[in-house]
Amino acid sequence: MKLGIVGLPNVGKSTLFNAITSAGAESANYPFCTIEPNVGVVEVPDKRLDFLTKMSNSGKTVPAVIEFFDIAGLVKGASKGEGLGNKFLSHIREVEAVVHVVRCFEDENVIHVESSVDPKRDIEIIELELVLADLEVMTKRLERLTKLVKNDKSLQTELELVQKLVSALENEKQARFLDYTDEELKLLKTFNLITAKPVLYVANVDEDYIANPGANKYVDEVKNHAAQDNSEVIIICGKIEEEISTLEDDEKIEFLHEMGLEESGLDKLIRVSYHLLGLISFFTTGPMESKAWTIVKGTKAPQAAGKIHTDIERGFIRAEVTSYNDVVECGTMNAAKEKGLMRLEGKEYVMEDGDIVLFRFNV
Ligand code: GDP
Repeated sequence: MKLGIVGLPNVGKSTLFNAITSAGAESANYPFCTIEPNVGVVEVPDKRLDFLTKMSNSGKTVPAVIEFFDIAGLVKGASKGEGLGNKFLSHIREVEAVVHVVRCFEDENVIHVESSVDPKRDIEIIELELVLADLEVMTKRLERLTKLVKNDKSLQTELELVQKLVSALENEKQARFLDYTDEELKLLKTFNLITAKPVLYVANVDEDYIANPGANKYVDEVKNHAAQDNSEVIIICGKIEEEISTLEDDEKIEFLHEMGLEESGLDKLIRVSYHLLGLISFFTTGPMESKAWTIVKGTKAPQAAGKIHTDIERGFIRAEVTSYNDVVECGTMNAAKEKGLMRLEGKEYVMEDGDIVLFRFNV
């Protein structure tokens, strides 16, 4: 899963991103991170995977990961080339969801590019830049399609969709708020519009507010804005996240406890992102390794197998599935099997969160 972090300068993006990279996965396993300084990879915390590793005495544990892209350089006028301009917007086209960091902390020592802390205004500035970036892409496409459609009537649906998008974007309406037919949705996905992606707001508050964010008026503004578009808000304190990310696991638990928190902001961000994108995990486990795999809810067994290897999808025969909860209850995979809790599932089986699977396939 890929997420893009956006927000005005000095709102705490790099602070959060630093927390991500230092909490991050072993970079040797993810070589592209060292090449791309603006990509950070974090492992998705999952206690179930720890249990399976112990149970199978696995040599290796391979958690699911999330890639975060730090999209720096967005300021008022970015789409017209201000700041670092459009170049950075190309990265964001690749992500599955947008994490919009909003400054909700006051600090005289940290300059605000718009001179005051004002979450609603800040959000609107960024949203407008993203709308303008999409508008530029769609306007170009409209010009091209208008010419092409004369000789190729099959492009008519696409042309109409692009016209609809251009007129919405011109009215500063984001692509994610329009209604689409199934056919339009398929086309829309290929356009990679930024404003079509789901958004998650991160309210970056002062240390003093972290245990009592309700007392922060700026957070309310973010929540009100998010409520209008049914998006979720996560409250974090970038500075504290940076500290937490350097701690060992047991120190981390103690630190969070002292702060009156149950989980770190980063863990919360990961959890909510999964929910936002409708993702679930299935597991494979054995002496070699225990591994978590990420799929979209509703994925059928052969396509889930395809995540492991396309050959397994192609040659799919059946899946041997045991639910994680059954395995925990019985203690081992074999015990669960003896109790008849291992199911043989075919091509139409819809995977469930926590399925432990062994795929059988023809080579
Ligand atoms: P970016 O431009 O959005 O990447 O912002 P940075 O992460 O560089 O943060 C700008 C400044 O704000 C830095 O000096 C940070 O230390 C500070 N900062 C970030 N998060 C917090 C926070 O939660 N509380 C306070 N007081 N300062 C913060």
